[in-house]
Amino acid sequence: MINNSIQLFERAQRSIPGGVNSPVRAFKSVGGTPLFIKKAQGAYLYDADDNRYIDYIASWGPMILGHAYEPVVKAIQEYAEYSTSYGAPTELEIEMAELILSMVPNVDMIRMVSSGTEACMSALRLARGYTGRNKVIKFEGHYHGHADSFLVKAGSGVATFNIQTVPGITAGVSADTLVAAYNNLEQVQQLVAENKGEVAAIIMEPVAGNMGCILPEAGFLEGVRALCDAEGIVFIMDEVMTGFRLAPGGAQEKLGIKADLVTYGKVIGGGMPVGAFGGRRDIMEKIAPLGSVYQAGTLSGNPIAMIAGYTTLKTLKDNPSIYAELDEKCNYLKIGLNEVLQAWGQPYIINQLGSMISVHFSDHAVTDFATASSANNARFNQFFHAMLKRGIYLPPSAFEAWFLNNALTQQDLDETIRAAKESLQEID
Ligand SMILES: *Cc1c(COP(=O)(O)O)cnc(C)c1O
Repeated sequence: MINNSIQLFERAQRSIPGGVNSPVRAFKSVGGTPLFIKKAQGAYLYDADDNRYIDYIASWGPMILGHAYEPVVKAIQEYAEYSTSYGAPTELEIEMAELILSMVPNVDMIRMVSSGTEACMSALRLARGYTGRNKVIKFEGHYHGHADSFLVKAGSGVATFNIQTVPGITAGVSADTLVAAYNNLEQVQQLVAENKGEVAAIIMEPVAGNMGCILPEAGFLEGVRALCDAEGIVFIMDEVMTGFRLAPGGAQEKLGIKADLVTYGKVIGGGMPVGAFGGRRDIMEKIAPLGSVYQAGTLSGNPIAMIAGYTTLKTLKDNPSIYAELDEKCNYLKIGLNEVLQAWGQPYIINQLGSMISVHFSDHAVTDFATASSANNARFNQFFHAMLKRGIYLPPSAFEAWFLNNALTQQDLDETIRAAKESLQEID
């Protein structure tokens, strides 16, 4: 019974476009009514009809410690009495910056913003200002937020809704955005050669998470790094999803590759609207007020957002075993899913790294956008609904990674695997 969600969705659509404030939430590609959430605790979401779900979205990543994690809740409550914003600097912001620098060795300086989108668009402007060049190379199916330059062949909702070109983005902006296939180093090298001396930045999700979870193949990141060094291109790693999730130092640490600039979001805010971009001192010094690349925000470094993010990151830094626990949980899930999928007998692929995982109903390896798109995504949509009916809340699109949170118990994982076994019997 989801009567209350149905009613809320009808009401929402009268005042909010599509009834949602971010497109993928609308369940448009999987069909049906999005669940309206009343509250969450640990690994569980509760909808407006008081149904309980095991959550594999974790607010699309931020809730790595589980929902309503007590130290975070307490910190927000205590700080709120001091006021929720000043528009003037606070010591909290220094503590946050110092903490991030201590977790990510090659970040010399960091600037806080309020979303991953802002972080990526600011990093790109900075790379352009630093190099004096205009073009950017991005990868098909990668998502860097909704800034104009990044909505060319983007992942996440753009891929989910199969939007080919986004109206409102000028031809000039599109012309400056060059697109390569993920894991295709040759194509990147060719684009750089064809646009010699014009490419300001190469931006990528080091582990792609907005077309399902897709891992970099051996040598790919190293090759891009070497190319950037040779051509004076700023290598931007978009760690909005992977930052503080795959390791304390994110994908950079997990995969042993260093970017020039890194962008953060999601986990960094512990569930509050936070993003950040940082990296090499000589580049970061070009940002205003030190330099003339302008970037600003009325609510940037907001104290409530900082305290939530700081408490989350500090917990992760002080308890690195959390990463091993998450790895173990995700691995357990993968083994369990693998068993029931194999018994089911139809083709499938499971991609996983750390606490990110995705299932593709595909008979070929999923290594880039083309192979992710050619999976049987209608089958995924059926699987999604069969799982939801059994109280398992997966991302409502085959083009999204699932995120584990550390409040998940073995019992939850067993329940998920059991639900998957039953769900597979229902799909054709
Ligand atoms: C979510 C995401 C963004 C955008 O972040 P928002 O906070 O939604 O603006 C950018 N890059 C990646 C890799 C993301 O996953």
